[in-house]
Formats: sequence, C-alpha cells, structure tokens
Amino acid sequence: MGYLPTLPETLSRTTQKYPDREAVVYPRKDVRLTYAEFDERVDRFANALRDRGVEPGDRVSLLLHNSAEFAVALFGLLRAGAVFNPINYRLAPSEVAYILDDSESTTLLFEAETRETVENGRDEFSTVEDYVYVDDDVEDAPEYAAGFHDLLENADAGAPSVTVEPTDQYAIMYTSGTTGRPKGVVHSHRDATYHNMLYAGQMGLDFTDVGISAMPLYHNAELNCGLLARINLGAKTVILHDFDPRRTLEVVDEERATHLFVASRIWRQLLETSRDLDSFDGASLELGVYGAAPMPPSLLEECIETFTEDYATAYGMTEMGPCATFILPFEVREHIESVGRAAPNHEVRIVEPTEDEDPNDPVGPEDTVETGETGEIILQGPPMMEEYWNAPEKTADAIRDGWFFTGDAGYLDEDGYLFLVDRIDDMIISGGENIYPTDVENVLYRHDGVVEVAVIGEDDEDWGERVVAYVVPDGELTANELDEFCRESDDLAAFKRPRGYEFRDELPRNPSGKIQKYRLREED
Ligand code: ATP
Ligand code: MG
Repeated sequence: MGYLPTLPETLSRTTQKYPDREAVVYPRKDVRLTYAEFDERVDRFANALRDRGVEPGDRVSLLLHNSAEFAVALFGLLRAGAVFNPINYRLAPSEVAYILDDSESTTLLFEAETRETVENGRDEFSTVEDYVYVDDDVEDAPEYAAGFHDLLENADAGAPSVTVEPTDQYAIMYTSGTTGRPKGVVHSHRDATYHNMLYAGQMGLDFTDVGISAMPLYHNAELNCGLLARINLGAKTVILHDFDPRRTLEVVDEERATHLFVASRIWRQLLETSRDLDSFDGASLELGVYGAAPMPPSLLEECIETFTEDYATAYGMTEMGPCATFILPFEVREHIESVGRAAPNHEVRIVEPTEDEDPNDPVGPEDTVETGETGEIILQGPPMMEEYWNAPEKTADAIRDGWFFTGDAGYLDEDGYLFLVDRIDDMIISGGENIYPTDVENVLYRHDGVVEVAVIGEDDEDWGERVVAYVVPDGELTANELDEFCRESDDLAAFKRPRGYEFRDELPRNPSGKIQKYRLREED
C-alpha cells in the first residue's frame, strides 16, 4: 500500500492548499481560525509540550468539553508525537483516575467545568506530571497548572522536529463502558486517516462543507467523522461547547451548515425545538446523519420534511474507527430498521457465538450462520484498532484471525443488510436455548405500566440461567400482572418468559445513557 499520511500531515497539506479558508469556528468565544492560523497555533502548542518535556509516544489526556482549544490541543499534541487520550468529562474522579492510570498518561488538560473533578481526583492521578488549564483566558489558572493560552503565546511558531510515522499510535480511546470497565482502544494514524476519508467518501463531503461538532469530541464518532474528516478535506468545523438544541439550530443558519451528525434522540430534540423557533430556516443543510440507536420511521419522515431530504446512518464502535456499515440516503427509507451494509473494503459476517479464545483459529465460511439467523457480528476493515491497551488477553479475545468480534448480536438479510439484536454478553442461555433479551423487552415495553425494562439472566441450578426482568414501573404494577401479560402475548415463547421481576426507580446507565446490564448481574 502507498503512503497514508499521519493526522498532522493531513492538516499541513490542507493548510498549504487552503491557508485562508476557515478551519475552526468557536462561537462561544467568538473564535474564527483560518487553516493558516489554526496550523500556527498547533505548532505553538506542539512546541510548548516539547518544552515541557513531552516525548514522542507520551500520552496526553484531555478532560474537556468541545472547544477551539480542544482542536488545537489535539493536533498540537499529535504534532509533538504524543498520543491522544480523550476522557469523557462526565466521569467521576475515580473513573478518570482509572483511565489516566491505565494509559499511564503524563499530561492532563482540563477546564473550569472539569476543575472540580481534577481537584477531587488529583491524589489518585499518580502518573500525571503536568497539568494544563485551558480557561486561563477567562479565569485564574490553579497554581499547579500551566495556562493554555499563556503557553501558546510564549511558545515558538514553526513545526517542531519530530518524526511521526503513519503506523505510530495516534490515540488510546476508552470505550463507553456499557459492558464492563472501559477498554483502551489503540488506533494508529493510518487507521484514523483511512477512516475519516472513508466517511467523507460515503457521505459525499468536500472542502465546501460546513459541519457542526454538536456531539462530544471525546467520542470517536464526532471526532473522526467530524473534525478529522473536515480537516483532511479543508472544510469548516463549527464547534459547540456542549449540546443545546436551540443553539445548534441557530448556528446551522448563522454558519450555513451543510452536514449534521447527531444521535437519533437528538434529532427528536432538534425537531421539537425547530417548531418553537420561528426564525429557523435550515435551507443550508444537505445531509443529516443519525446513529447510536434506532430511528423511528415517523421521526425520520418528520426530519426529512423539516431539515433535509438526505439522511444516512452508520453502525460501528470505537474499535472499528468507528463506522463499519452505512445506510446511504438513497436507501434509508426502505431500510430504516437496518444499520446498513458493509462499508467499502469492509466485511460483515455473523457467526455462532462461542467462547473460543484461540486467536489463531481461522474464521471460515463454515462458522457463519444461515442468512437471517442471529449470531455474533464480526467485522473486518482497514481502520480496525491495533489492540486494547495493556490488555493482551482482551485483544486476543476480540481479534481472531484478523476479524473483530464485536460482542454485538445481529443478523444479515439476503441483500447483506445488517440488523442489530443485542449484545452477546447479554444473551441468556436457559435450558440450552439462546434467549435474546430484546425479544423479551420488546414485549414488556408494550405494557402501558412499563417505563423502562432490562432483561438479564441470573444463575439457576436447574436451567443454567433464568430470565429476570428489571422494570421501572409507571405507578402500581405487579409481577403477576406482567406475567399474565407475557402469557397472553403471541410474540413470546414460553421458555423466554421472565421467571422473576424486580422493580426499580431507575436502571444503571453509563454516561452516554446506555443501560449497564452487567451492573444488574453483579447485584444478583
Ligand atoms: P463497552 O465496549 O465499554 O462496553 P460500548 O460498546 O457501548 O462500551 P462504544 O464503542 O461507544 O462503546 O459503542 C459501540 C456500541 O454501540 C456497539 O457495539 C453497538 O452495540 C452500539 N451501536 C453502535 N452503532 C449503533 C447503531 N447505529 N444503533 C444501535 N446501536 C449501535
Ligand atoms: Mg464495545
């Protein structure tokens, strides 16, 4: 294969081509940076880090909301040869400590809003030697931290002399922690460059596009499909500090945004807000992308009517860069239940879920299940992660014979469209039968008294596991009532019927809102 540039190189090349085009706009602080200006700040921050002793390969962590500083810090640390470690700013101090420790991070960037987390956790941040405070332009930096803008002002312009190879680590990104402790996903520069061009190609983006980073940049989807793709193309990124539906719509009009990628539930909020915002025009929007959860068909129709004709979606995970399948605008209406077909140069297969841990076992066609049958989704594609950081066993379990075992359950139809069912870990085996909790949850959700439900398997001497439903009720609700409801349903085989009900005020969730069933199993 020919040369795939590193991320800092994609920026340099774009800057050469379009020095005067706008790269990053940050309305909150009235910042507008052309590519030449952005690139210069990136050099300065890289030099500042080098001056402070950051060596190539060192991990630099960002505990930040979205901002222009986030973008400068990211490219600056990469230009200094460091490895990017984004941390979800909603995590508790001990969770942040886990990630800093696991990644052996030496430098931490934080801000006014995450200052408390840092101050409460600092005793536990044992590997961190250097703190940088990005809000030194609005309030006093704590005495133990350097000020970000201060560093920029005093650093040299001009690129530092550091060699970064496309195969070098670019990031250690931690997964969302839905199924257990977050795992550190290692991606190389070439993974990231390949993936952002893949996304741009699929979505038909070019340098004239204007995208809004409305979702958190610490997440691989916003980062790679948004900022990194647009830097590579020479397009413009408007960065919103955090999500606010009204501000997002105003910025769409103010900046003439063409492309918006937000979670399905966010599209609903945007739709509702657009009804109260008389001045909203939205004519500039060319493409809407949703993800992370299914899109109800009626919501899609309303979005198409209100925002733009063209909608697309993707499925993937931090480990795949993240997108591995796409639904493109021409097919979205007919395939709204599906998460798409394999991305170019990718392959999707469904295999019998096994505990087989031999990474050298070949994955052959004989392992795949029949079309339409549910099993574990396995994926192959160029931007796949290199490994899980510090976790060779987890890596060997996840990457076998060049395939990434997603831990997601799903099936393919005869045209290769993929449908998600559940997480494999959540699958219940009772009396030798595989039970997918979603099948049970879907039935229970039809009961008016059920606000939320999570179905898990609990150990059972006779059956291996028994099906138990954790229910958040709306008012009075009894186990008998729900049992009766399930017995009457035509959609639930007897062996799938819950044998126990637990009532709760709420269910455990990770910071992105996904239900953490492993916590329910731990309670058991
Ligand atoms: P962890 O790996 O720590 O348990 P996580 O898997 O939730 O957390 P992410 O990498 O952020 O962490 O999320 C990837 C997962 O999100 C996928 O494995 C899948 O279960 C789910 N997902 C991804 N895309 C979609 C989609 N379009 N619709 C529904 N679910 C999706
Ligand atoms: Mg995962």
